[in-house]
Amino acid sequence: MSHSVKPQNSTRKLIRTTEELIAAGLAPASQQEALAEVAQHYATAIPPAFLDLIDQPTDPIGLQVIPSPDELQVTAAERSDPIGDNALSPVPGIVHRYADRALLKPLLVCPLYCRFCFRREHVGPDGGVLDDAALENALNWLRTHPQIQEVILTGGDPLMLSPRRLGHIMTALSAMPHVTTIRLHTRVPVAAPERVTEALMDALESDKSVWMAVHINHVREMSPAAQACLKRLVRRGIPLLGQSVLLRGVNDTEEALEALFRSMIAVRMRPYYLHQLDPAPGTARFHVPVVEGQRLLAGLRGRVTGLAWPTYVLDIPGGYGKVPLGPGYVEGPTTVRDPEGTPHVLDRL
Ligand SMILES: *Cc1c(COP(=O)(O)O)cnc(C)c1O
Ligand code: SF4
Repeated sequence: MSHSVKPQNSTRKLIRTTEELIAAGLAPASQQEALAEVAQHYATAIPPAFLDLIDQPTDPIGLQVIPSPDELQVTAAERSDPIGDNALSPVPGIVHRYADRALLKPLLVCPLYCRFCFRREHVGPDGGVLDDAALENALNWLRTHPQIQEVILTGGDPLMLSPRRLGHIMTALSAMPHVTTIRLHTRVPVAAPERVTEALMDALESDKSVWMAVHINHVREMSPAAQACLKRLVRRGIPLLGQSVLLRGVNDTEEALEALFRSMIAVRMRPYYLHQLDPAPGTARFHVPVVEGQRLLAGLRGRVTGLAWPTYVLDIPGGYGKVPLGPGYVEGPTTVRDPEGTPHVLDRL
């Protein structure tokens, strides 16, 4: 722990600039120039709740939020719109890929900026908020498309909205007869739990089926404050889903994934998706090959409760949709492997 940055953490301040990173001991001064260039392309924010969790810059928390000169290296496999959202946007703020559901992105601000973010070229603290007219236009698109049964609020992070603005959106969606379900995708309960005030939770009240998918990648993000925040949301009757990205150096071991998924179950959060990393620019250092991901999940099968076993998914680059990646257990027309790997030939399959 010789490189511990703990002593600096008493400053309850959001870290944003290269200078602040260096001053906090999160990056060496020798990286000043390279990190200044990274900052021209990608936003940085490390909120106090995350700063408190960083023991060393290269630990599973630091890796997720501290910018690296490696981000300037863009590989051939990487693209700026990895999952093809742009082509699927009928009006600003809406992404429509699947018949029954659509994304509504009211802002592009996040409580922190993940270094592996699939929308990293778009998210950031400046601008990116739909103005009143654009928001009304997006809501109107939803109003006039009765096939949309589920609206997924994402961004950016919808819990970075003020309670007033979030309440306005929730009220508008709740008044649409064809909308049965409202889902919010957020990192706020772990990254900035203090934002989840009674007023913000009041804004989430709706007669619709309201779900929350929380993005968490490592068990240490499940701090006492995060757990308390998630329990408050559960008490409000909001079912919680866990979403994680499989990340080299963060959660690429059976032990790390087991601890993460078990910590979700402990707060009544159902692990939903484990995402294969999207090929966003400058994220190669986080890549874990699919065969390795399948092996990790196979290792957990049978060892952890089925409640704690998420679906491993790939969002096919180019906008072709999300598909489960297995691992699969069926081999040939009548053979299936058990969790230990032993094949069984059945009379009927
Ligand atoms: C991921 C995604 C969804 C949600 O997919 P689910 O499998 O229902 O979680 C919806 N629309 C778009 C455009 C998406 O990228
Ligand atoms: S919270 Fe989500 S949208 Fe925001 S930076 Fe992280 S991955 Fe990207």
